[in-house]
Amino acid sequence: MKVAIIGAGNVGATLAYTLLVRDIVTRVSLIDVSREKAVGEVLDLAHGASYLENPEIRAEGYEGVADADVIVLAAGRGRKPGESRLDLARGNAAITEEILADMAPHYRGAVVIVVANPVDVLTYVTVRRLSAPPSKIIGSGTSLDSSRFRYLLGQEFGIDPRSIHADVIGEHGDSSVLAWSMASLGQIPVTRYAPPGGVPLDAAARERIHQSVVMAGKEVIQRKGATFYAVALSVARIVEAVLHDEKSVLTVSTYVEGFGEIADVCLSLPAVVGRDGVREVLPIVLDDEERRQLAASAAGLREIIAQLGYSDRA
Ligand code: NAD
Repeated sequence: MKVAIIGAGNVGATLAYTLLVRDIVTRVSLIDVSREKAVGEVLDLAHGASYLENPEIRAEGYEGVADADVIVLAAGRGRKPGESRLDLARGNAAITEEILADMAPHYRGAVVIVVANPVDVLTYVTVRRLSAPPSKIIGSGTSLDSSRFRYLLGQEFGIDPRSIHADVIGEHGDSSVLAWSMASLGQIPVTRYAPPGGVPLDAAARERIHQSVVMAGKEVIQRKGATFYAVALSVARIVEAVLHDEKSVLTVSTYVEGFGEIADVCLSLPAVVGRDGVREVLPIVLDDEERRQLAASAAGLREIIAQLGYSDRA
């Protein structure tokens, strides 16, 4: 099985490393507008081949997507100082359009995972521009934010984050929604759990965690310039679920057409992920405030999509 990664930057190269080290796949191809960069990363990875399971790591052109089982779109740039969200979206949408056009003659129906930001908008662009069922196009969305949420709750309670089920839904960005009402630890709602000698999280503690989740990416970028390890792990998990046809429930960005009032937008919700991409979005039950926040998140995304001129219903 083969994964083709378009964009061999921090995120793309770290994803390649993660896929190989976690033994999720042995065939990885890097495609980048800078051939030098792709070849450099491939050599660096290939020099570790004696510690891996017979990897086949290559720098390729777009013909490399033809036999890929999963294609990852990780090409794009970060936000420049003072740049608006809309201008970043416009710039990275143009890059995504260019890539999809180059890819089209070679595309044979692989699942596409969009990682470049703004990920929900670019997932929508891919749904609109690539000739493929929307279910085959997955945005990494809030899978990273959900991992951050679980980590922070784990730290708070002194509990393994893998024993905590907690999701961030909606936009991967400022309007993301922490679904507290669904969050559980074992079978207990996290809002009712108190660690030994402690008390349940009050409103102030929940707000503190909310801010940490929402600001997490910005904090890492301020300190080290980019985020790539955790996103690579979360995308590797999605790749794994697709390649092994796991039908695992992952919180990913997907084309939503009728989740309550929400329609014609890509945003994250818990979804069943397998070989053909997203099989279904789970009919989760939110409280009134979360529903309101999710609707606002969807409306903000639809506004950007409309401003960029993509939606046929704008
Ligand atoms: P980077 O600058 O390190 O790498 C981007 C790569 O894309 C570069 O190698 C560049 O040459 C390549 N590229 C640019 N235009 C291209 C084109 N037309 N065709 C092919 N390749 C092209 O950036 P990064 O840190 O790897 O981040 C990549 C994207 O991922 C950014 O949009 C970033 O915001 C996003 N990101 C998303 C998440 C998430 O959770 N979704 C997390 C971190 C980063």
